[in-house]
Formats: sequence, C-alpha cells, structure tokens
Amino acid sequence: MLEFAAPPTAGLPLRLADLRPWGREELAPALAQWLGLASVQLTCSGTSALLLALRTLRALEPQRDEVIVPAYTCPLVALAVARCGLRLRLCDLRSDALDMDGDVLRSLCGPQTLAVLPTHLCGRVADVAQAMACARVVGAYVIEDAAQALGARVGLPHGEEPVGWQGHIGFYSLAVGKGLTTFEGGVLVARDAGLRAALARAGEQVRPSRLWELRRSLELLGYAALYRPQGLGLAYGMPLKKALARGDWVAAAGDDFDDFIPQHPLGRWRQRVGARALQRLPAFLQQTAQQAAGRCARLAAIPGVEIVGHACAQARGTWPVILLRLPTAAARNALVRRHWGDGSGLSLPFVHVLPDYGRYDHVLTSARCDRLERARDWAARLVAISNSPWLDEARFDRLLFQIAISTGAGSA
Ligand SMILES: *Cc1c(COP(=O)(O)O)cnc(C)c1O
Repeated sequence: MLEFAAPPTAGLPLRLADLRPWGREELAPALAQWLGLASVQLTCSGTSALLLALRTLRALEPQRDEVIVPAYTCPLVALAVARCGLRLRLCDLRSDALDMDGDVLRSLCGPQTLAVLPTHLCGRVADVAQAMACARVVGAYVIEDAAQALGARVGLPHGEEPVGWQGHIGFYSLAVGKGLTTFEGGVLVARDAGLRAALARAGEQVRPSRLWELRRSLELLGYAALYRPQGLGLAYGMPLKKALARGDWVAAAGDDFDDFIPQHPLGRWRQRVGARALQRLPAFLQQTAQQAAGRCARLAAIPGVEIVGHACAQARGTWPVILLRLPTAAARNALVRRHWGDGSGLSLPFVHVLPDYGRYDHVLTSARCDRLERARDWAARLVAISNSPWLDEARFDRLLFQIAISTGAGSA
C-alpha cells in the first residue's frame, strides 16, 4: 500500500488535459494579463531570472559590485550573485517580521551597492517601500525576490498591485512546490520600459538546449503523474526519509544546491502546460488563502506559537505554507525531529542562515563578517506547515495537537 504524504507546500496540481502536446495557449501574455502588467519575460528558472537581472544592472552600473540579500533566504540567490562575479552582503532580519531590518539595511547600503533584494519569503509580503527608500539614497536598484509569491498583492494608495512590481525588477519562480509550475521556470517583470527592453536583450542571448528542455519535460511529466497524495510518498517521502535517517536536514529541506545554474529558454510545450494550469491558479490561491486563514486562527490560539505575518500593511499574500515561530529552538527541534517526514506536512523553509551551511562558504565573500544574530534566531525557531488542500481537517487536527504538546513541553 502506498503511504499518504502531504506535499511540503501547496503546489497547484496538474491535470492530464494540461499536458496535451498541441494548442496555442501562451504563458507570457496570460501571466501578464492576470497580473495586470504590460508584459512579462519567461526564463528557465527563478535563479536564471535573477542572473539576467543582475547582469543587466551590472552593465548599467559597472562600478557597483555588492548585492544585499536577507541573511535567511534561498541559497540559490547567493549562488547567482557569485556567478555574476558580484559580492554578497547579508542583511540581518527584523525581530518582529521575516524581512530585512531597516537600520541594518541602511548601514549596508553605499556607493558600492548594485542591488537590494527584498524577499517575499513563503508568500509573506516584504516591505519593498523600505528597501526602495534605502536604495534610492545611494543610487542602487531594488530587485524583488518574489520567487515564492506569484499572485501575492499589495494595497497602495492608488490601488492593488502584484508583488514584484514595486521595485525596479521583480522575479517569480515556477519551480516545483512554488504554486504554478513548469517543473522549473521563472518570470521577470520590470516597471520601466527601458529596463524591460534591456532584460529582453539579455534574455535573447540565452542559447537553447534540447537536452535541458527534454530533461525538464520528462520531469514535468513525472511531476504530473506523482503529484498526488499517494505518489508523493514515493517521489518525495522516500528520499526525505533517507535524508532524515542520515540526520541530513539540509538535504531533507532540499537546500543542497550545486553551483551550476542551467540557462536556456523555457520550452514551448512547458509554457502551454503552464498557461493551462494558470487558468485554475486564481481559484486555487483563493481556496488556499481561505484554508490558511482558518488554520492560522487555530494555530495562533496555542500558547507560545506565533504565526509569521507580512512585513507591510495592506498585503494579500500567497499561502504555500503557514509559517510558525516557536518559543525556543529546543521546542522547534523536538517537533521537527518527531514529525518531519511522517507525511503530516511539516518542514523547514530553509535550514540555516547562509553562512551556517558550510557548503556555501565559497560564495560568501564580503558577507563573511556580516552580523546576523536575529536571522539565526529565526532560522532556529521557524517551522513550516504545508497548506496543501490534501492535508485534510483530520490530519491538520492531529498536527495541531502535536504542536500544542511540543510547545508545552518546550517552554516548560
Ligand atoms: C526558489 C527560490 C529562488 C530560486 O528560484 P528557482 O526557480 O528555484 O531557481 C529564489 N529565491 C527564493 C526566495 C526562492 O525560494
């Protein structure tokens, strides 16, 4: 019998009809229309989108070579910065929100700063206005890392806008587990027409690779076949259990990236698959937001459990997971040891702040001395609960009970 496993995040499931080889659906115009933007640019991954953004900005400001990112983020961001020959700076987090601290950010910004990357981690909306204010003073750019937040919106005085659109450049990921997926894929947006044209020119330099496209197409088919509660036990649960049995949390969280960043266009067939699935995304985001609202209210009633919210007001996030901060690292670790990998949908967004992995030391450069006590504290106390609709009420009730026990035990 196949075991049930909740996916770690609420990814939009594909349907058989999404996979048909013929058709005229186009992903870029459909995405642009849904987001309410003039146009978007497709890439083969979020990381590839970030590479194009960084290269484009570097060409405009060749004397600037530092990129400031939150100390707790996806390691791929650091790899992309290094790949462009740029120097990384890590910004410590606020203690009250999963976002860069304004004072620290101001102290890191200078004439050497090329770009600042406010990051909408796990669909929680970052304070982009703050990043823009800090960047503006020193003449730097803002790239919004909206990899995990396609479909999140912010309310502004003149109306709602998608996240990714308040900075100079924004990017979304279409990787597995981030909502809409083409197995790997990325989307670039920019408000300024000149910048959009420069990004498009950089994109045209990217050479096609039949081999990568074939590989990704097969992976997408495998995803379509196995992304269901029973298939996941096999495709995701087994490697996860093996990694956890070794005590390898970094592999278990999928934080073990290679330096190599593939770059090729996003193939036509995968674009069509994405365009068809996109038609169901708005309803899916609404469904998962509603589910999260109910579950957040119940989780928040557990003493010691803190629901991680947005860093700015008037935000409408996406809900791939519900993020909790537990009272102590001991309580968090006890919960994780007991329930990670048992199919209940519990996981870690990222295991460490970047310098604590060890395996990314070669890309730290200038960031080696950056202070990150608060980010480290976040990394030690965070836990993510899958917001997949497959994690039904009965399973969620059980998990809620386990969390209540862990926090009770941890704080006693
Ligand atoms: C996943 C992710 C990326 C990279 O996107 P890919 O499509 O996986 O290359 C960048 N930043 C954050 C915060 C992410 O979660």
